[in-house]
Amino acid sequence: QAHLDRIAEVDGDVHAFLHVNEAALEQARAIDERRAAGEELHELAGAPVAIKDVLCTVGMPSTAGSRILEGWIPPYDATVVARLKQAGLVALGKTNMDEFAMGSSTEHSAYGPTRNPWDLERIPGGSGGGSAAAVAAFEAPFALGSDTGGSIRQPAAVTGTVGMKPTYGGVSRYGAIALASSLDQVGPVTRTVLDSALIHDVIGGHDPLDSTSLEREWPSFAAAAREGASRGDLAGLRVGVVKELDSEGIAADVQARFQETVRVLTDAGAEVVEVSCPSFAYSVAAYYLILPAEASSNLARFDSVRFGLRVEQAGQTVEDVMAATREAGFGAEVKRRIILGTYALSAGYYDAYYGSAQKVRTLIQRDFDAAFEQADILISPAAPTTAFKLGEKLDDPLAMYVNDITTIPANLAGIPGMGLPMGLGDDGLPVGLQLLAPMFEDERLYRAGAAIE
Ligand code: GLN
Repeated sequence: QAHLDRIAEVDGDVHAFLHVNEAALEQARAIDERRAAGEELHELAGAPVAIKDVLCTVGMPSTAGSRILEGWIPPYDATVVARLKQAGLVALGKTNMDEFAMGSSTEHSAYGPTRNPWDLERIPGGSGGGSAAAVAAFEAPFALGSDTGGSIRQPAAVTGTVGMKPTYGGVSRYGAIALASSLDQVGPVTRTVLDSALIHDVIGGHDPLDSTSLEREWPSFAAAAREGASRGDLAGLRVGVVKELDSEGIAADVQARFQETVRVLTDAGAEVVEVSCPSFAYSVAAYYLILPAEASSNLARFDSVRFGLRVEQAGQTVEDVMAATREAGFGAEVKRRIILGTYALSAGYYDAYYGSAQKVRTLIQRDFDAAFEQADILISPAAPTTAFKLGEKLDDPLAMYVNDITTIPANLAGIPGMGLPMGLGDDGLPVGLQLLAPMFEDERLYRAGAAIE
């Protein structure tokens, strides 16, 4: 009830939600009754969770921020949603996002922008700005996001929340509307590292419905977070500062907070070394070929026949109807990326663009491998600046794209990354720290993150 009240109070300004679950309270009461009847339930059972609108939810619209899916109600739950419900958590509603998760500010939503609760004139990050804003504004204690190039970690950074992108394959993508399938990962957005671990423990693990889901046993991330928090020092932890992610394009106040954080980690016993990842200079360029290429293919399914919107007039051919539907249903950023992606994949250009980008991807993975020889975790600012003003970068796609310079390398390599608060910038707005670990070592991020927090 408290969260529904809070939504009623602030969401007119913040606009974190696209849909609020009318039955949430009733569902929470049903959980309470089961607990009262003596049933052993998960420690979070009965708690509400906000769900990014890119995830399919039975009985609730799932638009991915697009007009083309307006009013579409999926016939099945994403695995992550099903697992939360299974544990007794209650879906509070669906959160706003950049259309098909393309963006860094949530201004590309077809349903209007979300505003940053710290300053309503500023963006909450993106694409998962709705999830981060909902958690930051106390409209929800936990949320789910998806991170293809930073859409969990960057919104967390600019809203003072904790955002986790798991190892690729660690969390099921079944029922997550695909942006770029080789990069997408679902993960939690929360106010503390322990909360993130608790949610991750529920949603993670092998899913036979996702062919890229890893078949492995994961440790309890909540246990790791609790251990890290109770230990309180970082003795023996080798921390690598990624030179390339702490210089060009990073605002002076973000750099200052980062240097202070490095001192705090050193004082806590960590052994801090500088590492160099020279190929990161090409990561944004490679990402903006690989992502549009995969997205152009994934978005071909919105064909006016299978889902959502259909724009038609009597006597039109099927091609006419498809073209009219996609013209009306997709926003400008989505069209830009479909065009970029189909161009990069077209005969004669494939090797030069897509092929080269894939080679850069391998070089980035090798840079990480070398860096992790010298350090257990890597750190950097999670975003280059604090939250910028609404409208500031909307007409300049390149300015929007370079926002993810700090987060993109982890997606290209498939490794886990966490964004967590590291104080405030000179403007009084949150600044985020990013922690990175080798593939499969999500546990390290929870242990270190909880100690640092
Ligand atoms: N901002 C990045 C993009 O526009 C990241 C998107 C994401 O992680 N979903 O592609």
